[in-house]
Amino acid sequence: MRFAALASGSEGNALLVQHGSTLLMMDCGLPLREVKRGLHRLGLEPAQLSAILVTHEHGDHIGGVPALASAFNLPVFASHGTLSSAQAPFTRLPRLMPFDSHDPTPLVIGDLEICPIRVPHDTREPVQYRFDNGQHRLGVLTDLGSLTPHVVHCLTGVDALVLECNYEPDLLARGRYPARLQQRIRGPLGHLANQQAAELLTQLDCSRLQHLLAAHLSNENNRPELAQQALATALGCTPDWIGVARQRTGFDWRELH
Ligand SMILES: [Zn+2]
Ligand SMILES: [Zn+2]
Repeated sequence: MRFAALASGSEGNALLVQHGSTLLMMDCGLPLREVKRGLHRLGLEPAQLSAILVTHEHGDHIGGVPALASAFNLPVFASHGTLSSAQAPFTRLPRLMPFDSHDPTPLVIGDLEICPIRVPHDTREPVQYRFDNGQHRLGVLTDLGSLTPHVVHCLTGVDALVLECNYEPDLLARGRYPARLQQRIRGPLGHLANQQAAELLTQLDCSRLQHLLAAHLSNENNRPELAQQALATALGCTPDWIGVARQRTGFDWRELH
């Protein structure tokens, strides 16, 4: 199993997971031409995609789904709540595959099993995902305002983790975001601060962890080195071991073995 990202952050997200002939895209908040360019950069064609998995209805996650799904006739998996809050043209896609995020049965797409993970975020039925190929597990966790026992339960023992480090509280407080927006980001249904992401690591069994990437960093309210430092301190590793997902370029393939 390997994974990569085309983009990560509030201007657009798209992550790829591949195992055998199964190629999944998790979220797509990018215009179709950028998706094609990004896939080519990773040595892929959009026609190789098996399905799109959506986490929630914010534009940086679903904005590019309708164009990509219609161009390549892709199935789109999303929770009932996400589907009920999304708008046309998303809701008119022919291959929508709704699921109940409380159903413990994993989704099976090709060679991968996928567990939706319910998260606290200010949308109808937001989830993140854990991917399992029978040997390794990859967890992806962004867009949540607080940690829950359920999140810890779902992600403990994973072999790779893509983890939101949205903001550094000092930078957010001193930055130019209006007070209301700051409050939303900092709130229990907003986004994870560097320190909250680090706190999660201390609650997880990280003994199998081969890859850790800081993701969904705010361009305004964070710096890659602050996120790396916070996670490295929690893990007891050097900051340069922690990867950083970039807004415009995501990150290159990471392999699990
Ligand atoms: Zn987001
Ligand atoms: Zn969001």
